[in-house]
Amino acid sequence: MDISKYKIGPQSDLKLSKIKTSDTGQFGEKDEAEKHLEENIQRMAGLQSKLYAQNKYAFLFIIQAMDTAGKDGTIKHVMSGLNPQSTQVHSFKQPSPEELDHDYLWRAMKCMPERGCIGIFNRSYYEDVLVVRVHDLLKKQQIPDELITDNIWKDRYRQINNFERYLYENGIITVKFFLHISKEEQKDRLIGRIDDKAKNWKFASADIQERQYWDEYQRYYQEAISETSTREAPWYVIPADKKWFARFLVSEIIAQSMDALKLGYPLVDEAQKKILMEFKQKLLNNEV
Ligand code: ATP
Ligand code: MG
Repeated sequence: MDISKYKIGPQSDLKLSKIKTSDTGQFGEKDEAEKHLEENIQRMAGLQSKLYAQNKYAFLFIIQAMDTAGKDGTIKHVMSGLNPQSTQVHSFKQPSPEELDHDYLWRAMKCMPERGCIGIFNRSYYEDVLVVRVHDLLKKQQIPDELITDNIWKDRYRQINNFERYLYENGIITVKFFLHISKEEQKDRLIGRIDDKAKNWKFASADIQERQYWDEYQRYYQEAISETSTREAPWYVIPADKKWFARFLVSEIIAQSMDALKLGYPLVDEAQKKILMEFKQKLLNNEV
């Protein structure tokens, strides 16, 4: 399928309100999308195995979204077929005192996937141009007063773009997803968490607090996505009112992004092949 429709071009004039959160692409119903999700999970597993064997590139998939948009569920379902040995998931919460004592990229750098591996960030350093902006947390981040200028967000976009470019030029490929839900859908999901006993644990009063800042978040997401979608590290806006579509689409983008690398198992040359055959013969002859 053509995923370019969901990809945000560099310096695009993104209008999140124009992107339909209930879009389900070519799928009329859930079953069909779920079938394709299953296929993509297989595809991803095959590609991951080659990525690991090659041990050169790494992928970093960043998932950002408003509360209840389905970050956890997407990770759980889409990544279910990956090999845990070469998959590293990190959730970024409120920074600890130790993290606040460092620059904002420090904690992300510590969690970068190793070569051959897939890294998944559940939230990321993008929180540092989102929640930090909404709640004016720069002082808490211990940034010197004189460095807190009107340009700070633009400066951070530039820093992030440079950082992701640095990663790219070192073989770490970043792909970013914004799970886009409507405010109405969030309301339904929050009510669902109250009504369904099994989901009560997921209800966080903080989510209700944050909901009051919905418009600001949308505005800052919109700006951040426009400013940091690059050729090296693109953003995809995923319509996420229908969880089954969001999961399918994320899996499709991951599979296509990995496919684009043309990964293959490392080839064995003639001399090595000969050595392998000699070993085989020794094993067959019980010589070793
Ligand atoms: P879930 O609710 O599904 O468990 P979550 O990602 O919302 O997942 P929470 O523990 O509820 O996890 O929230 C983490 C909180 O940490 C979010 O509100 C997020 O905005 C906040 N956070 C993440 N990074 C930063 C940061 N750099 N500065 C301040 N707050 C941050
Ligand atoms: Mg939460």
